Amino acid sequence: MNPLGQGWYHLNVSVLGAALLRAERIRSQRKLSRFTRRPAGDLAPPFSVSPQLKELISRHYLAGRFANHRGPVAWVTSGAPIEHLKALGYYLMYPENHAAVCGIRRTAAERCADAEEHGFSRDLCSYARTDIGSALSGNTPVGRLPRPDVLVCCTNICQTVLGWYQVLARHFQAPLVLVDTPFLYREATPQALAFVQRQILENLPVLERVAGRTLSPKRLERVMALSKEAVELWMQVLDRGRHRPTPITAFDEFIHMAPVVEMRGDSSTVEYYRALLKELDARIANGIGALKQERKRLLWDNLPIWFKIRQLSEQLAAHGATLVASTYTNAWGELAALLDPAHPLESMARVYLHPILNRSTGDKLATMKRMVRDYSCDGVILHSDRSCKPYSIGQVDQRERLHRELGVPALLLEADHNDPRAFSDEQVRTRVEAFLEMLEP
Ligand code: SF4
Repeated sequence: MNPLGQGWYHLNVSVLGAALLRAERIRSQRKLSRFTRRPAGDLAPPFSVSPQLKELISRHYLAGRFANHRGPVAWVTSGAPIEHLKALGYYLMYPENHAAVCGIRRTAAERCADAEEHGFSRDLCSYARTDIGSALSGNTPVGRLPRPDVLVCCTNICQTVLGWYQVLARHFQAPLVLVDTPFLYREATPQALAFVQRQILENLPVLERVAGRTLSPKRLERVMALSKEAVELWMQVLDRGRHRPTPITAFDEFIHMAPVVEMRGDSSTVEYYRALLKELDARIANGIGALKQERKRLLWDNLPIWFKIRQLSEQLAAHGATLVASTYTNAWGELAALLDPAHPLESMARVYLHPILNRSTGDKLATMKRMVRDYSCDGVILHSDRSCKPYSIGQVDQRERLHRELGVPALLLEADHNDPRAFSDEQVRTRVEAFLEMLEP
């Protein structure tokens, strides 16, 4: 490792950057404490831990800007096993999260257009187009992305990621490491588990060579323990949504889920969720709901519409309705019990074989039915995501069965999670409005 590069990283990230971000957090906290004394429309005041979240995410992207000076960098799919990468000292970049940041900052349409100009079809997932467009144009709202030394792709969310990562591997001239996960129509077989575990093991020499060090079992166990704790805390955060009125909405969760996705295995993530949980419990104890008047509780299915989170949240709130849970945020917590630091490789294979998108549509329906009951939902919004076909498949049938078997109405809402050009504002507003009116007594 280059000591000059390490020093440059340390100065920019750990000293100057950390001090600036800390000062910014303190300023935001002061501003927030003034704001929380004022009434805030239909919605409760923002969480006082929010500036801490902003600091955490900003620090992550700041570290990314200088990561190539510090050590090895891996770009990974959101569902990829990462604990061994963390233990090897990799900085992890999640192109899907970065694409979501582009969506929230309203730059995704430009990045998608960049990719389309290079011949990528508009039918491709908008995350893939946003990321490829960003890689090809060098444009990003986070300043600069680190160059990958290795790409790690796991097919447990979809097959699109494989083609996408092949494009990245060619563009960056970096090795591509694949973990292929058999789709689970029923229970995972011992053969499927062994197949995934073997791939994680077989990939290890490449990852060690690129990182320039060997995997320490002790360090892996420590990262696994931190991952497990973060995921368990995240699940507890989501569980607070069962309370009536809910102290947190799925709109909040879409933002607060960033650390559990891209900073699993870090102690700062554990600290952050402890603080969030404490604030939620204080809100419950003081009778503070996410909505001033909660009348209707809804479940959300599929990815959020990143560029319309606020608009949808306000539209629902005007009717006393909110999202109390979502299958998407739940996916990052429901497998907590499968993580076992004492058996890292085996449990990694088990966990990363079971994401919701790698299981059958019947399994997803069962999850939704359980969530409707657990969170006492009055209705469901199924986001039919033009980009994410694997998440959207089966929703017509799911809508009917939710209604027929649970008596719960469900709205099928056509949109796209990241490409505003595939979103009709008027149509979405009208359909949501009609659904909410229908829910009202
Ligand atoms: S198709 Fe869906 S699962 Fe695949 S990368 Fe896009 S959003 Fe993710």
